[in-house]
Order: sequence, then C-alpha cells, then structure tokens
Amino acid sequence: MRVAVSGAAGAMGQRMIALIASAPDMELAGAVDRPDHPDLGKDAGVLARVGELGVPLAGELTDKPDVAIDFSAPAATLAVARQCAGMGVPLVIGTTGLSGEERAELAEAVACSIPVLLAANMSLGVNLLLRLVEVAASALPGYDVEIIEAHHRRKKDAPSGTARELANRLLQALGRDEEALLYGREGTVGARTSEEIAIHAVRGGDIVGDHTVIFAGEGERLELTHRASSREVFAQGALRAARFLVQQGPGLYSMADVLG
Ligand code: NAD
Repeated sequence: MRVAVSGAAGAMGQRMIALIASAPDMELAGAVDRPDHPDLGKDAGVLARVGELGVPLAGELTDKPDVAIDFSAPAATLAVARQCAGMGVPLVIGTTGLSGEERAELAEAVACSIPVLLAANMSLGVNLLLRLVEVAASALPGYDVEIIEAHHRRKKDAPSGTARELANRLLQALGRDEEALLYGREGTVGARTSEEIAIHAVRGGDIVGDHTVIFAGEGERLELTHRASSREVFAQGALRAARFLVQQGPGLYSMADVLG
C-alpha cells in the first residue's frame, strides 16, 4: 500500500513515516508539509531518522498514493481533503481543532466522493473510554461531570479534540445540549448547576495526552482516566484506519467503524 503523509515534518507525521518505513506491506508515497517549511526538498526518511526513503518533503501532493494520512492543521487538512477528493484517494484525518464548517464540508462535499475517516484520537484505549463514559453517565444519574485534559506545551487547540468528543458523548448520554458545556471557570461564578459539564485544559512539557472524566456524587466519585505515554498508539491506530479505509466506498467513517 502506497501511503502519503500530510503534516510530514510534525511530531505525528514523523512517527507515521517511521512506522510506514517499518511496515512490510507499506511504502511512503508522499510527504507533504507547509509550502514554506525550511526542510522542503530533504529526504522524508532522513528527517524522520529512519534513513533515506527516496521521498522528498514537498509543499503539495504530486503522485497519487493509495491512501493519505493527515496530522497537520485544519487549513491544511481541508486543502489535502479537496486534493484527495479530486484524485480519488481515501483519507485518514487525525488533525483536531476543525471548525463546524470544516467538518460539514468534509461530511457533505468530500465524503461523497472518497472514503474519509475522521478521528480526534486513534488509540484503542481512548475509543474504549468514549464507550465507558456513556455507560457511566447512564449509570450515575445526578452525578456532576467534569473533564480534565493535559497535553504538551506545543499543542495549538484547546480543549483537545478528544475532550470535545468525550463531552459530545456525555451530552448525548445525559440528554443535554451544547449550552451545558463550560470551558474552565473564573471569578465569582457561584454554585455549580447540575446541568453543566466543564472542560479544563492543562498544557505543559512533553505530555503526550491525558484525559480524565470525573463523575462526582455525594460521598464518592468515579474517575475514568486514559494516559497516552507514546505517540506510537496514535500512529498504529492511523495505519489500522488506513488499511480499513482502502477497502471502503465513499463516506465518513470513525474509529468505531475500524474497531468494530
Ligand atoms: P505538530 O505541530 O508537531 O505538526 C503539525 C505539522 O503540520 C507541522 O509539521 C506543520 O508544519 C504542518 N502544517 C501546519 N500548517 C500546514 C499547512 N498549511 N500545510 C501543510 N502542513 C502544515 O503537531 P502534531 O503533534 O504532529 O499534531 C498534528 C495534529 O494531529 C494536531 O491537530 C493534533 O491535535 C493531532 N493529533 C491527533 C491525534 C489522533 O490520534 N487523532 C494524535 C496526536 C495528534
């Protein structure tokens, strides 16, 4: 399978390239990053410290791959998605922070012509956590729910895409709408309402990604926590998603489809 990587010079892009280079059934077919990236033209394998792969870092996708994987930034994601739609190339998207309009374009325009998988978190553990919080929310009516996420200092979007997804699952399970969400608290905010769900974002150092959902009642609290200690889990999940996606028809898919 010939795989192109978008955001190829970034932390996740480099992991993807290293993993593709070590996979017997995969070949790197393209490495795309910002058109003004200082490493443009350098061998993508050398940049990812896995040795020459004969694929230079480029400002856009040129050769048609079998599948593309994007871990970049929302503006780049939409550009790559339009290009993949034009070329008929399935696309795995791990980039977070997409706006409602960007997600709508992916769902309505792009996914009509190609298979697109959109997942804020590709790890098996987080996808199980998404299910577990639904179970806990239904089983603990009246408990106060809060979400805490922590990521490395370079992360650009807050709260994380995974925290947003956790919040969406909780809203659905509890029958509340988006107005119940708060993003941190400051000042004399008064007592907590029973409806609100606050999301708190911590940033620092090299934290790969932690997510905790707290269900607090009278006399007890339940905390469900996932901690990623390596980006490897996300990269492995993205390759699993790519193998799944090349066998699908046009449409919008999630990790739940991949993991069954
Ligand atoms: P990073 O900042 O290390 O890398 C992002 C890369 O995208 C950089 O090389 C940057 O130059 C490139 N880029 C930015 N704008 C671009 C443009 N207009 N055109 C082409 N390339 C562009 O970030 P990262 O840690 O690798 O994360 C990238 C994205 O993946 C983030 O949105 C992050 O939240 C998300 N992420 C998702 C998962 C998941 O499991 N879905 C896991 C980790 C990270």
